[in-house]
Amino acid sequence: MSISRRLRHGIVFAILLLTWAGGSRCAGADLPRSTGGRVPLIRVGVAPEVAAVRLSAEGAWQLGVTGSCYRPTPMAKGEEWTVRALGGTLLLRDAAGRARGSVKDTLFVFPEDSESGSLLLDGRAYRGQLLVWGVGDRVTAVNVVDLESYVRAVLPQEMGPQPFARTDALRAQAVAARSYTLSTLGRWADRGFDLLATIEDQVYGGLPAERPVCSQAVEDTRGVVAVYQDHPIRAYYSSTCGGHTGAPEEVWTRPGAPYLCGVRDMTSRVDHSFCASSPWFKWTEEWKGKEFETMLASSIPRVRGDWSAARYGRLVGVSIRERSASARVSCLSLEFQRGRVDLRGDEIRWVLRRPRTKDGLRSALLIRVDVARKGGRISKVRISGQGYGHGVGLCQFGAMGMSEAGYSYDQIVHFYYRGADLRRYY
Ligand SMILES: [Zn+2]
Repeated sequence: MSISRRLRHGIVFAILLLTWAGGSRCAGADLPRSTGGRVPLIRVGVAPEVAAVRLSAEGAWQLGVTGSCYRPTPMAKGEEWTVRALGGTLLLRDAAGRARGSVKDTLFVFPEDSESGSLLLDGRAYRGQLLVWGVGDRVTAVNVVDLESYVRAVLPQEMGPQPFARTDALRAQAVAARSYTLSTLGRWADRGFDLLATIEDQVYGGLPAERPVCSQAVEDTRGVVAVYQDHPIRAYYSSTCGGHTGAPEEVWTRPGAPYLCGVRDMTSRVDHSFCASSPWFKWTEEWKGKEFETMLASSIPRVRGDWSAARYGRLVGVSIRERSASARVSCLSLEFQRGRVDLRGDEIRWVLRRPRTKDGLRSALLIRVDVARKGGRISKVRISGQGYGHGVGLCQFGAMGMSEAGYSYDQIVHFYYRGADLRRYY
């Protein structure tokens, strides 16, 4: 994206929206202590670099062009336009396929009823506004939405509605999602937005995803953010830690943070791990020898480009060589006839694919690796492990267990993010 285009997006954003009072858009580093009571607006890449988008709304809506002296065009309820791009220019067509104009600048789309109206992007409803621009032959649509509405649509996707006893787990998850968002603002600045709407950041489902019990948890914690040394924390979270959360440096190559140290997922109040009720607290996967080798032949080249089955020969052993502080496997060795491949940290989850679903292994917290041999060849590999996900930060099933054990949401946040403080931003 050219500098001028990026600048233009920045200007559009500033004009259209009431942003933080003097807030920086850079990785949360300089966020102000207060937002003057305003809820910050964020940009979610809901349709990044796609071939086309369909725009409409559940009520009347308006479509404008940035930098244009013309007033936005009023659109009737249910009217739908399709937007494609050609050489960076947006081409607009109505539902009958008639060409309705071309635009070189960014489109902005908003519902006539700014309080309760919602827009439709490819048939999915969103609160807030949409920005649409073209780069080459690809179209990007960004949902500009206030942080509270965003978290309302993230919570049901990330934790789902929960029974009353788990209310504080939902509240803790709302604080984690809000904090993660603020700490990563501008992560995709080069692409013109703050966050992706997928698992790569947080799963964001727009208006249809909202659930009353989750919205209530967001409302209960409105504006509450976990901070460390005055900055919103990188509040990572995952489904099930398996008994002990991990530190980022154990799992990824990215640096850790004091508040992300690994913690044992229990206290003296209980006699089991808080996430013991998770269906993935313990798991076992089993491959036939041939099946395991076929899986490795396709997945190892993704992390070791110079590896090939022809060069390394048959698999002769699988063993755990090293564990990190949280007992996760930090080095798993695959021994071949002519060489060894050591898998490190989260690589283990991406190389070892589950036999039925072909998804990655649920966690790197492996308990045992058993290899059976027949006639000098590996006939079976069985791996048992605990947990689901990277295991860094808040354990979602653990938070549910803590909530059921009577802990409040602030206690849950303090438990998983050691040394972090809670602050109400607005
Ligand atoms: Zn846990």
